[in-house]
Amino acid sequence: MTTTKARPEQESAQVEVRNPADGTVVGSVPNETAEAVAAKVTALRAAQPEWEAIGPKGREVWLRKFQNWLFDNAEHLADVLQSETGKPRADASLEAPMAADLIDYYGKNAAKFLADDSPKAHGPLGLMKRLTTVFRPYPVVGVITPWNFPLAMPALDVIPALAAGAAVLLKPSEVTPLSAAEFVRGWSEIGAPPVLAIATGLGATGAAVVDNVDYVQFTGSTRTGKAIAKACAERLVPYSLELGGKDPAIVLADADLDRAANGIAYGGLFNAGQVCISVERVYVEAPVYDEFVEKLTKQVSSLRQGQDDRSFKYDVGALATPGQRDIVQRHVDEAIAAGARATTGGKATGVGTFFEPTVLVDVNHSMSCISEETFGPTLPVMKVADEAEAIRLANDSEYGLSATVWTGDKDRGERVARQLDAGAVNINDFASNLFNFALPMGGWKDSGVGARWGGASGIRKYCRQQAITSPRIPTQQREILWFPYKKSNVRMGLGMLRLASAKGLRNKLGLGGGK
Ligand code: NAD
Repeated sequence: MTTTKARPEQESAQVEVRNPADGTVVGSVPNETAEAVAAKVTALRAAQPEWEAIGPKGREVWLRKFQNWLFDNAEHLADVLQSETGKPRADASLEAPMAADLIDYYGKNAAKFLADDSPKAHGPLGLMKRLTTVFRPYPVVGVITPWNFPLAMPALDVIPALAAGAAVLLKPSEVTPLSAAEFVRGWSEIGAPPVLAIATGLGATGAAVVDNVDYVQFTGSTRTGKAIAKACAERLVPYSLELGGKDPAIVLADADLDRAANGIAYGGLFNAGQVCISVERVYVEAPVYDEFVEKLTKQVSSLRQGQDDRSFKYDVGALATPGQRDIVQRHVDEAIAAGARATTGGKATGVGTFFEPTVLVDVNHSMSCISEETFGPTLPVMKVADEAEAIRLANDSEYGLSATVWTGDKDRGERVARQLDAGAVNINDFASNLFNFALPMGGWKDSGVGARWGGASGIRKYCRQQAITSPRIPTQQREILWFPYKKSNVRMGLGMLRLASAKGLRNKLGLGGGK
């Protein structure tokens, strides 16, 4: 049976949502117009000042209530997630707890991260002023999200934006809007201030969000990210983009090959490979290549695939859309036509959008399975002569989201990491940076602009910085450089500036010949 779930393309009042595992209709949401989006932004703008005024501690009270709601409704949220994605129960169960953990992080730290900075003056002249940097939120942040983690993707950016004191308009993917709708419903169910709203619909609804908000946080494809960057430039509003990836894994000859094979199988096939930071290419040093491929093939071929219920029966689920399945099939078919071989998997199962977990060998950089983002359950593996070749090939990509290095020597792992063009590198693990909110998660090259999290910067990014100065000493009627200009005053002012900023006594006094 093939699923009928297609990416909704047509303009209509409602967007139908289907389970891609079996094609059944599981819900529908409004396809909201630009006028509806503008009205929502107006309402959020009106509610935001009070939200800002209650401060980080006041906001933490609501975020903690919401955290409890997420814990209390975790099973229901996992049901909704599974219904619109065809994910295994284990994958669906992770999203609400991760959101709750992020609430804990920003709940505990927002007050410290948003506290005024009192920087030291850079020179003696500045000592006459009290210097303060204040962090004041953008009033309305638009968060636009993709379909691969329908609850986590919204939560991971909505939470820091709310913690910063912004109001948020969330635009989830048209393919999987139901979990996001539940998330926003939860916020109103706890009676929280009306500073979180949802706008559902197709790309045009997303474009209307970009046209109305004060800051855009986007996660999705590089193509849409570039369109959003242009639209933001037109309005001069700031943005942060979390885009596609083609993450390499490097397996060095001294690695624990069992851990590497298990970790790479998980990193490549978790969520059926529909993860921006999925392992999408593997480079293995020649001496261990055969043994690694054998272990990886064994692990991948043992995975259980199917439509899960609440029983945790399956490891790998469906792809989100038939279009996504077709991309995976094309990458595999093109590779095989050009001389590659599947050691396991290699085709769609014929049920829903399921595609067999696949390992490809004899691949090279001319193949789409290595050069394009696949976003599916494939692991192309290449033999490399040594570490230098692995690094060169890993960096030979338009993407630079993250990478993994597998080695028995942690220092060597760090040395390799520092040569990789990627926003994150995990040594002997997959995705561990993602669970450490003190670290930034951001892509280099075509993988993005800016980053989420990263301690204070993950919440300060939703704020405008305001510089405030006030006098430390009694003020005179006028400053030395104010009107009317006088030669002696200007000379004295410039002299003082030189005295304060030049290095070395001769230079400070303008005696020349100084070093
Ligand atoms: P997409 O770009 O097609 O859609 C993402 C969102 O943008 C959807 O909500 C869509 O309706 C909206 N949109 C479409 N056109 C728009 C426009 N002109 N203006 C404003 N909004 C618009 O992406 P997708 O297919 O849903 O998601 C898959 C992609 O997301 C992959 O490339 C994947 O790598 C990427 N992704 C990146 C990260 C990360 O953190 N770097 C995480 C998850 C997914």
